[in-house]
Parts: sequence; C-alpha cells; structure tokens
Amino acid sequence: MEHGNQKGATLLRVMQPPELRGSQSGCSSKSGNGKSGCGSAAGQGDLSPELWEKVKNHPCYSEEAHHHFARMHVAVAPACNIQCNYCNRKYDCSNESRPGVVSERLTPEQAARKTLAVASAIPQMTVLGIAGPGDPLANPEKTFKTFELVSRTAPDIKLCLSTNGLMLPDYVDRIQALNIDHVTITINMIDPVVGARIYPWIYFEKKRYEGVEAARILSERQLLGLEMLTARGILCKVNSVMIPGINDSHLAAVNKAVKARGAFLHNIMPLISAPEHGTVFGLSGQRGPSAQELKQLQDSCEGEMNMMRHCRQCRADAVGLLGEDRSAEFTTEKVMEMEVSYDLERRQSYQQKVELQRDAVVAARKSELETLAGKHSSISILIAVATKGGGRINEHFGHAKEFQVYEVSTSGAKFVGHRRVDNYCQGGYAEEDSLETVVRAINDCVAVFVARIGGCPRKGLERAGIEPVDRFALEYIEQSAIAYFREYLERVQSGEITHSPRGDAEIRQGALIA
Ligand code: SF4
Repeated sequence: MEHGNQKGATLLRVMQPPELRGSQSGCSSKSGNGKSGCGSAAGQGDLSPELWEKVKNHPCYSEEAHHHFARMHVAVAPACNIQCNYCNRKYDCSNESRPGVVSERLTPEQAARKTLAVASAIPQMTVLGIAGPGDPLANPEKTFKTFELVSRTAPDIKLCLSTNGLMLPDYVDRIQALNIDHVTITINMIDPVVGARIYPWIYFEKKRYEGVEAARILSERQLLGLEMLTARGILCKVNSVMIPGINDSHLAAVNKAVKARGAFLHNIMPLISAPEHGTVFGLSGQRGPSAQELKQLQDSCEGEMNMMRHCRQCRADAVGLLGEDRSAEFTTEKVMEMEVSYDLERRQSYQQKVELQRDAVVAARKSELETLAGKHSSISILIAVATKGGGRINEHFGHAKEFQVYEVSTSGAKFVGHRRVDNYCQGGYAEEDSLETVVRAINDCVAVFVARIGGCPRKGLERAGIEPVDRFALEYIEQSAIAYFREYLERVQSGEITHSPRGDAEIRQGALIA
C-alpha cells in the first residue's frame, strides 16, 4: 500500500533553511574556544546569532547550558500509537528515571499551573517539554492546549515536543503556529527490516500494522516530518536508542540520513533494559551497550554532526537541572497549595546572573587552555566529576548520584557523558557495595574530581587505579581538568607514572534519582 506521504517525501527532500545553513557543519567542527567538541557544546562558536538565541539557554540543545539551566516535563500525554520493545508505560516507580515513567498524569490546566509554579520557584527553568508518558502527538488536543495555556501566561519559556514521529507530518503547521521551535524525534532505524525487531506494531489511520510494514510506515513518516520541520526553521533533535546486535551498526546510516534532512543534534542513548521493567527487551535479556561501546559510536558520528552526550533519559514528569529531579516538590497537591507568582523581570534578572557565571566558566577554560599551547601528545584521558551544577566541582563523593565524564587531551576538555550511581553514603554510613558500583561506573577514568571524600572510599578508589582528587574543590570543572591533564603529561614524561588505557565501564541503569 502506498501512502500519500511517500509522494510528499520526494517533493519535500529539502535542504536546510538559509538561516541554518553553515551552522550545521560549522558547529560540529568548532567550539567557542576553537579547540574541541561542537558548537552546541561550548559557546556560540560559529552559530548564527539566531540559532545561538535558540540554544544558548536550552539545557538539552547546549551542553554548556545544562550546567546552569533547568527544564521540566509535564505528563499530559498518556496514549501511544506504537509499541517499542524497550518501553513499558505501566511501570511506575518514584525511584526510577527513564522515559515513559511518571508518578501522576495531568490535565492541560494542571500542567499550566505546575509550569507557572516551577517557573516561580526555579527562575533558571527555561524549557517546558511534553514527552509522554505516551506520545504527545497521539494526544494532540491535550498537548497543544497545554502549550497554548503556557505560552499565554509564561511567554519566555521555550516549548519543546518529543515524538515518535508517526503523526508528525499532520501537525507540523500547528507546531509552527504555536512557536514550538524545538522538536525531538526518536528515530532508531531507517531500514524497516531493522525496525521490525524494535517495533512489533503501530496504529495508523485506524488500522494496526505489524512487522516490516509497520516499520516502513513509521520510518517514512519520521523522515518526512523531520524534513517538513527543518524546512520551516524549527530546530530538530533526533534521539536514537543504541541496541547492541539490533541497530548498533545501523545507527551511523541513521546519523547520515537525519543530518541530510537538517537535524541539528543527534542524541544516541544507551538502551535501558532490565527484567524488572517488564519490557520485551528486558524480559528477553537484550543487553544495553557498555560505556565505551556507546562512546565509540558517538565519536564515530561526531564528524558528521553535533552529538548530544548529556541526555539523562528523563522521566516524563522530570523537573530541575538535568541530572537532578525535583518533581517530588511539585506534585499536583503541593502545586495547588502554592502561591504562584510568575515574575518575568525576576526571572530575567536571575538568568542574566547565570549568564555572567557562565561567561566566567568559559573565560577560565580559555585561559587554562593557553597553557597547553604548543604541546602535542596522542594521550587522552577520562576524568569523572562530582558536581551539583554551575560548572564547578562542588559535590561530595559520597553524595554524588551521578558523575560527569570529561575527555581531556591537548585539545582541551570535552564533556563525553555521565554515569549514574547509587549514593555511596546512604543514611550517613558508607556501603562497600556502593563503592564497587561506583568503580564499575567510572572504571574507564583515571581520576575522579570531588569537593570532598572520606578516607575509606579514597583507599578503595586508589586500589582500583582511580585517583581521587579534591584539590580542585569548588573550582571550575574544565579549567581544573586541563590543569590536571597538564600535570599528568608532565608526570608521564618524567617517568613518574605510566600512561596505559583503562578498561571499559558499565552504564548503570535504573539508579536512584531521589
Ligand atoms: S530526556 Fe534528554 S533531551 Fe529530554 S529533557 Fe531529558 S536530557 Fe533533555
């Protein structure tokens, strides 16, 4: 059966709109310091002013912004129109952080009130996203009503939508009319044979499709929707779930296809799969990738386009900085009791202060990088960092729920991922088991930067060959990483230490977030 959208896809094989041209390739090759990473990672670089305005305080579209600005999701979209083998929306646990999980579902009116409540309490919250727990475009009226209400009362908040793409071509005009200028599409394949192993069925135009035919329709609709959005200048991010043995070797082709259609950012995420989640993949024992498998794939695609590496695969009701979740502070019951006063001026002045902090981080990194000028080495190392945000090393080892991982070389320091862990300190006492899970999570790192660390974990880390470093407490992360790397190189050159590649690390799934 031929779908109307096939013809449309041919007609709409468009290039990026002029205002975005140049920014795609440019930002993937240069950062603000001209050294490493992508434009979205580190400063304006060569992004156009218009594009920079769209991404600069968006925590998902700019790695740098994610240290300073927060986002929130509202769970107004319960229904879904496709089945993915990695998803089970029935599963709900307040300790669980992964897409599709929510504690309560909201009406558009409740969602709008919650957004104002969060905007009042967290002035650095700049983005409202609708990402489920089902598919926002399988619940179009609830989704668009929520955006309408919020855009009327809180015009400075950026609106984001995350979709599987099946219904996207039908709603592109409405998305544009509502000024939703960040859209995420989950695209796990462009080959329906691969897709049939990920999607058992879809429900489209009042009919259920299965297998290869279902995947073919889904893929066509996703790519058409992406082309239509980028033709209108709407910024698009593509999420892909890396599923070893199923689509891992296929994702490079997906990367090329979405880049050709004007996607701004590609976010390759690890499969979250455990039997207790009750998903098809969880129950069949399908594994997720290791940290190094994920990094290698992301690295191999990086020359092609901007890669997002700081995604936390958030719950559909997450609130706060990425890596923290304050949703429990904003339950419907609490929000109804809160005094909500949306104060645009206060929000703007707070955000200006955040911008100044951010400028200071960039300036510190730049000046530290100058100390590496003229040094050449093939050595690069990974460093894990305990941080509460603000771009500083400001978290106690025992309180860290995740470590941010930076790759450092003579080119500079680049954020390459994060690793969730269970708190080492739980209820005030140390757990040896927790230390083992932390070591497994950061086993590929040569050092861990912390604000403070106790004697026991310090010794345990040293035994595992990971150097605990607290002398940069409260300092800027990237500046400190570059300083550490310079000393590391000197120690290698003097023969004091030997540099050898570290092992692989485990991506911890379902770790505590509360
Ligand atoms: S799931 Fe990823 S892209 Fe979405 S809000 Fe969380 S970090 Fe951002």
